Amino acid sequence: MIFKPEKYSITDEPIKPFIDASEIENILFTSKADKIQVRDIIQKSLSKKRLSLYETAVLLNAETPELIEEIKDGARTLKNNIYGNRIVLFAPLYIGNKCSNNCTYCGFRSSNIHSERKTLTDTEIIHEVEALEDNGQKRLILVYGEHAQYNPEYIAHTVRLCYNTKKGTGEIRRVNINAAPLDIAGFKTVKEAGIGTFQIFQETYHPEIYKTYHLRGKKADYTYRLTALDRAQDAGLDDVGIGALFGLYNWKFEVLGLVRHTNHLEACYNVGPHTISFPRIKDASMLSLKDKYFVNDNDFARVIAILRLAVPYTGMILTARESKEIRDELLQYGVSQIDGGTKLELGSYARTESANEQQDLNKGQFRINDNRSLNEIIDELLDQQMLPSFCTACYRLGRTGEHFMEFSVPGFIKRFCTPNAMLTLTEYLMDYAPQKTAEKAWTLINKQLDAMVNDSVRAQLISKMEKIKEGKRDLYF
Ligand code: SAM
Ligand code: SF4
Repeated sequence: MIFKPEKYSITDEPIKPFIDASEIENILFTSKADKIQVRDIIQKSLSKKRLSLYETAVLLNAETPELIEEIKDGARTLKNNIYGNRIVLFAPLYIGNKCSNNCTYCGFRSSNIHSERKTLTDTEIIHEVEALEDNGQKRLILVYGEHAQYNPEYIAHTVRLCYNTKKGTGEIRRVNINAAPLDIAGFKTVKEAGIGTFQIFQETYHPEIYKTYHLRGKKADYTYRLTALDRAQDAGLDDVGIGALFGLYNWKFEVLGLVRHTNHLEACYNVGPHTISFPRIKDASMLSLKDKYFVNDNDFARVIAILRLAVPYTGMILTARESKEIRDELLQYGVSQIDGGTKLELGSYARTESANEQQDLNKGQFRINDNRSLNEIIDELLDQQMLPSFCTACYRLGRTGEHFMEFSVPGFIKRFCTPNAMLTLTEYLMDYAPQKTAEKAWTLINKQLDAMVNDSVRAQLISKMEKIKEGKRDLYF
């Protein structure tokens, strides 16, 4: 059975949710992973077609080591064929951790009296942004608890503050948001401030299970959260990110929930999610969750490989919740964006303590497991022949749905993404990189230049790189 998405009329009134748990369970239960079928489904994905719920369920039910390897190989091939070696870098910036909800898995939950509550002042935000710019960051995601103080006007104000804070050659060129669901007017307000992606994670797509983790506050309303990105679309904000918090419920169910959400957005708005996130639950202040649904590393790799194949066009984000070793492995299966130099404690980017200092869980949302600085991450990406990118060109040129274009327009990556990655890396080398990193990066850049088949693009790229060396900034294709 293949579920056909329906179109709903979206208003701020509560609407019928588009997730039917029994239907997802039924698909999961009735789909069997037969070898031939698994191989056909991988081939379908490699021909750049999104998979149906049923096809995704077949991959989820592939349990033999042989088939699991084939699925991972398929994801690796898709990533190499379509996205190449570019990895986009960003940093999260926590603006405020006051919260009126009580999500049982989160350090910021209202019942946690040990959490040190703080909202950055405007001056502190400016200092944080300057410190991030001093490291070379160009893309931020601003994160907020759910609280009356963090209304759309306030969020829009903080976004503008980030864009307006420039230090030396440093500037923030793209500000994404991870905040509570808004109404249509609210989404319009934040869109006017020039945000990139608005991310909202459903946490768990299972409505009954959802209730058990969200006992109080606005977030207890499953449907209001599930339909948030529909309201974003109605507000004209078509750049949206979805996600599920892995560890709350059966991981296979959550993968199908993400695919169902994707085909709902595609069917109703003709545009799928810009990004999919798959955070795994990490330790947090005073956390005591049962580990019944925690996802082990092997199954987590399957989550990512299967999502890559199921939604071949979307950006996939893997954060510093995961260790360096896990991130290194999972990059191969199609992760396209990672954070670098991440600090979760409010106000900590501007402080000068050493990066390895123990994280105080009462000051942040959860424990991170990758404490590398941005430069260390860049250095190690270069060691793996990956091209670190701070590119924001599509968004600023109004090429919306950029991941879809990268994916669907022949030659888009070669023509735009790879050259823009090289240009933003050149800026980083001129302004921030230590010599050792610069040497490695130039070797890779020269290798990439040699491999370029389009002489005209190569010539334009070299000319732009020369201008950057002479002091020009923000050049892109
Ligand atoms: N407060 C807003 C909300 O709940 O939508 C903003 C997002 S919250 C600050 C960012 C995300 O962190 C949540 O959506 C959740 O998926 C994730 N998260 C919460 N607790 C976590 C934990 N203990 N480990 C890993 N991720 C967690
Ligand atoms: Fe608040 Fe978000 Fe944490 Fe829930 S996940 S307690 S809404 S900050």
